[in-house]
Amino acid sequence: MVAGASMAGLMTAAALQPWYRRVVVFDRDALPGTPRARRCVGQGRHAHGLLTTSVDVLEELLPGITEEFVAKGARRDDLAADVAWVSNGHHLATAPSDLRGLAVSRVLLEHHVRARVAALPGVEIHPEHIVTGIDVTDGAVRRVRVASSGPDQWVDADLVVDATGRASRLPDWLAQAGYPRPREEQLRVDLYYVSRVYTRDPARIDSILIGPTADAPRAGALLWLEGDRWIASLAGYGVRPPFGEAEYLDYAASLPSPLIAETVAGAEVLDGPHIFHIPANLWRRYDEATAWPAGLLPLGDSISVLNPLYGQGITLAAIQARLLRDLLADRRDDLASRYLPRCAEPVANAWAIATAGDAALTDPSFQPGPDDERVARFFEAAATDPDLTQLFLEVINLKQPYSRLTDPQTLPV
Ligand SMILES: Cc1cc2nc3c(=O)[nH]c(=O)nc-3n(C[C@H](O)[C@H](O)[C@H](O)COP(=O)(O)OP(=O)(O)OC[C@H]3O[C@@H](n4cnc5c(N)ncnc54)[C@H](O)[C@@H]3O)c2cc1C
Repeated sequence: MVAGASMAGLMTAAALQPWYRRVVVFDRDALPGTPRARRCVGQGRHAHGLLTTSVDVLEELLPGITEEFVAKGARRDDLAADVAWVSNGHHLATAPSDLRGLAVSRVLLEHHVRARVAALPGVEIHPEHIVTGIDVTDGAVRRVRVASSGPDQWVDADLVVDATGRASRLPDWLAQAGYPRPREEQLRVDLYYVSRVYTRDPARIDSILIGPTADAPRAGALLWLEGDRWIASLAGYGVRPPFGEAEYLDYAASLPSPLIAETVAGAEVLDGPHIFHIPANLWRRYDEATAWPAGLLPLGDSISVLNPLYGQGITLAAIQARLLRDLLADRRDDLASRYLPRCAEPVANAWAIATAGDAALTDPSFQPGPDDERVARFFEAAATDPDLTQLFLEVINLKQPYSRLTDPQTLPV
């Protein structure tokens, strides 16, 4: 049984399907029949970049899906050559790479993945079903309580995966069953996203990502979308980017690079503004659990919700779904004790990436240390060295540890 039918829950269902006769997925939301934003996944209205690993895992779990996306208007992009990166105020030098993302709207992504997963033998997806609790007997989860239009029902399950995202109630469910709540790591960011969709000249294939600096704690993404569109998401730490179109463009011009403002000037607004507030980076440390019921696993944003500017949420969920599939291929017993420590490994790397940048922007008492100075030198050097940009992109894609950026060996003398 999987709670949550967003990206993490869907990839989980695909990972479980070869090993279970039935995989039942419950989601509290009404799941639309066309690609459009839905109530419980408000981030669907905001820019989403799909990094290499998530595309690779989707293809492994659902063979042929990448080409199907392309047939629906999405594009495989070269994350170095097709994307302009501005980090620490520097336009990074790029050269063609083998890091291929998928340029696609979040709504088309989820819609098509859901269609593919729903078509897998034995998989059932039930919208408007809220998982409200777990029943733990003799140290194992035996069933979940589900609320829908009728009376609440208890549903038996051999395995329960919590993929209910940032609003997960798993800590409460554990506490109600007599288990300790997880320790939570938090770094407050108070980040506001405001997004608009614009028309795009069909000949343009580029995307732009502009990170914040200490002097300008503002960021922006302009991502290529299917249907001759771009989506712009402007983000402010502690301050909401303005809603009015002229003010929005002024704000875009005030980012560490004016590239987004210059690119969308004159384009027609098709949708927006839409807002999303991200209070904090959050990591629920299930990997530290000293007692844990068998047959229960968390996955995706239910474990960690990171600053989305780094674009790693779906990649983390993909890596965890692949891990689950591989552990099941090995054997079915002791799943939680084998999964929980390992699912935290990519989170630790993504957490290091997100919090290293955010601490400098959000903590008034922050004093740069040697690592911060090395990262500053790294980006300065990457402005003229595409090999360093390639390394940065491998780190962002969770293919290399964040420590590579602060490693003195990495930097030119
Ligand atoms: C503004 C923004 C921009 C982002 N940009 C990127 C990006 O560029 N790249 C990237 O990889 N990631 C990005 N992310 C993160 C990404 O959206 C998530 O990591 C991704 O959606 C996977 O999350 P999830 O499936 O774990 O949770 P969610 O997407 O939050 O889904 C949780 C699901 O659980 C359901 N649910 C909740 N409670 C219950 C319940 N009790 N019972 C049943 N169902 C329930 C909800 O209806 C929902 O369908 C961004 C996030 C935000 C907020």
